[in-house]
Amino acid sequence: MRLVLVGPPGAGKGTQAQYIASNLSIPKISTGDIFRANVSGGTELGKLAKEYMDRGDLVPDEVTIAMVRDRLSEDDAQDGFLLDGFPRNVPQAEILKKMLAEFGVALDIVLELVVDEDEVVRRLAGRRTCSQCGRIWHVDFDDKKDDVCDACGGSLYQRDDDKEETVRRRLEVYQEQTAPLITFYADEEILVGVDAAGPVEEVTGRAMEALAPYIG
Ligand code: ADP
Ligand code: AMP
Repeated sequence: MRLVLVGPPGAGKGTQAQYIASNLSIPKISTGDIFRANVSGGTELGKLAKEYMDRGDLVPDEVTIAMVRDRLSEDDAQDGFLLDGFPRNVPQAEILKKMLAEFGVALDIVLELVVDEDEVVRRLAGRRTCSQCGRIWHVDFDDKKDDVCDACGGSLYQRDDDKEETVRRRLEVYQEQTAPLITFYADEEILVGVDAAGPVEEVTGRAMEALAPYIG
């Protein structure tokens, strides 16, 4: 299964990716996670990406695409993968299509997580991430007042780009640059919309139902 999750920041892509990738036994590849790992590791890539991430802008395509190409060439991605946060604009989608064609494969399905903007803002405002295992929590929906990860005991942090001003910019960038992917993948006839409102388990159930016809 070669699968992409699209949707605005805060729609629940990372959250659903954890469950879907584990259900399907495929690697979850999140460009945001790879950039954040580079930022905390102090690499050159991290230094470059941080400038854009802090503003809520997209990291330049050539940097992002080279990083994805490397990741998709790794052994664990040869029989399938779930991409979370990539592609983020039509040029990235076009290059992904070409890149996969070079490997002799293609995307099976693009799941669009559909949720309204008020809910997205509420989700982003309370997002916390585990500094150790990367698991995603929400202060209210998961009742996480102690800032400790229930999965591994690590400490939780709030992403720099979840501050109100940056969130506003990220939502603009989504509308301007990422939302056109919906039409792009609808035209390719591989787009399936999933209602992403309601509890996490219900959304996972809907996503797995949508994927059922594609599971061999
Ligand atoms: P994205 O990867 O699309 O930016 P995340 O998966 O990081 O979004 O989710 C954003 C925030 O919303 C996190 O705090 C997460 O715990 C929370 N969240 C995700 N899905 C749901 C849901 N169905 N109901 C309530 N909160 C959710
Ligand atoms: P995310 O974790 O998906 O919310 O991404 C966080 C930030 O990383 C984004 O706001 C961008 O600055 C950067 N980023 C992640 N994925 C991409 C991508 N495919 N193209 C460009 N920038 C990206």
